Amino acid sequence: MKRADIVVIGGSAAGIPAAITARRHYPEKTIILIRKEKQVLIPCGIPYIFGTLGKPENNLMSDKALQDNNIELVIDEAVELHAKELDPKGKKVVLASGESVLYEKLILATGSSPAILPIPGFDKKNVYTVKKDVQYLQTLLDALKNVKELVILGCGFIGVEFADECKKNRDINVTVVEMLDQCLQIAFGEGACKCCQEIEDYLTKKGITIVTGTRITEILGDEAIKAVRLSNGKEIKADALIVGVGVSPNVELARKAGLATSKDGIIVDTTMRTSDPNIFACGDCATKFSFFTGQTSTLRLASIATMEARIAGANLYEISRKNPGVLGVFSTAVGNLTVAVAGVCEKGAKQCGFEVVTGEVEVPDRHPAGMPGASKIWVKMIFNKLNGELIGGAVRGGPSAGELINTISACIQNRMRASDIAIFQIGTHPAVTASPVVYPLVTVAEIALKNMKR
Ligand SMILES: Cc1cc2nc3c(=O)[nH]c(=O)nc-3n(C[C@H](O)[C@H](O)[C@H](O)COP(=O)(O)OP(=O)(O)OC[C@H]3O[C@@H](n4cnc5c(N)ncnc54)[C@H](O)[C@@H]3O)c2cc1C
Repeated sequence: MKRADIVVIGGSAAGIPAAITARRHYPEKTIILIRKEKQVLIPCGIPYIFGTLGKPENNLMSDKALQDNNIELVIDEAVELHAKELDPKGKKVVLASGESVLYEKLILATGSSPAILPIPGFDKKNVYTVKKDVQYLQTLLDALKNVKELVILGCGFIGVEFADECKKNRDINVTVVEMLDQCLQIAFGEGACKCCQEIEDYLTKKGITIVTGTRITEILGDEAIKAVRLSNGKEIKADALIVGVGVSPNVELARKAGLATSKDGIIVDTTMRTSDPNIFACGDCATKFSFFTGQTSTLRLASIATMEARIAGANLYEISRKNPGVLGVFSTAVGNLTVAVAGVCEKGAKQCGFEVVTGEVEVPDRHPAGMPGASKIWVKMIFNKLNGELIGGAVRGGPSAGELINTISACIQNRMRASDIAIFQIGTHPAVTASPVVYPLVTVAEIALKNMKR
């Protein structure tokens, strides 16, 4: 029987930073991390296995940080959990190998699995979900060699990235089916900006067909998929279907141990503690709430998982951090086009009850615009009219958009107002940033301040 002061179950975006944070905060404690797979995929890199990266082995997380932080790695599956407060057997994790690990504090970072959608024919051969599993993704990669007609369900970030990557270096017809009116609409909001349209235009130019405002209602074929039927009655030929939507939190271990769970995950408070004070949960397996409304959120992102992991790891023996709730910060890129969004879109803001004022601008992200690597960057920001606080933003441009949205996210999380951002102190340089004279965040804040006076 093994024993450690701190045991973490799960070794991906939540488990690894949870263990490292625990090490930083509690240097004297022994830590064991248990995870099922020998090597873990970088989840956000999965679509790139099918084009840019070429194979799952090129998309693996390193275990160096675990070794550097003196965290013992146990490759095994946790199959049973005993919690002292709930179970007379005491604080113990039972593994599939028969081994047991005793713990003092436990972090559950068991993640999520693809949802099984209630579409007739979902169990047919060559219908693939996006499992974070090396062998499964290798099987999909091999299957694509014999595919001429590929259909992708869902045109959110995962669908967009899969469509673009699967089309690369392959003579294959790719069709993406999206039930909303535009791709990426959940993140960017309805018709609010050109981000969705430009992504659709890029994919269409690459020869990818996008069918929006339509659902897949049935998967047709005998043993294997041959076509999909759409809600408009049409059929599309398909040798394979990749389902790019829907995940379910992995709560079984926690539920069977008697911890409070719901369909949204293992129930945690703002300190990431579960219903047992010695057990914390973080990442895709844990419940989430909105930064803006406090209501349950279904967002599941690696960036949220790592944030929660740093709260859970720090709070194990002494509560020092609180979860502010999920903001929702996304970015994606196809070709030279990057689109990104943080916080609420205009429609979402109104649904949350905010009256809003917006500002937007498009400027070069280098100065002068003729500097090498320059792209135009478009920035929109959404402010709460009542108090001037920034509550949302969207960015479209070249690679610089990816970090600019993170600055916007920092402003939202710190509840900065347009008047604060207008006098934001920025570092600028011709080769790497926009001009200080028209720096987009500052300019947009100034425009919004003017609009607030109307
Ligand atoms: C294709 C794709 C692209 C994505 N792109 C992005 C992106 O660009 N940006 C972003 O922020 N997010 C992205 N996400 C979301 C992101 O991947 C998840 O939010 C993130 O993986 C959550 O991390 P996690 O550690 O909570 O869970 P998971 O990644 O699901 O990991 C759970 C871990 O727990 C282990 N485990 C589970 N049960 C047990 C058990 N009983 N015993 C032992 N080990 C166990 C698993 O094996 C795994 O190691 C993407 C997701 C997908 C599928």
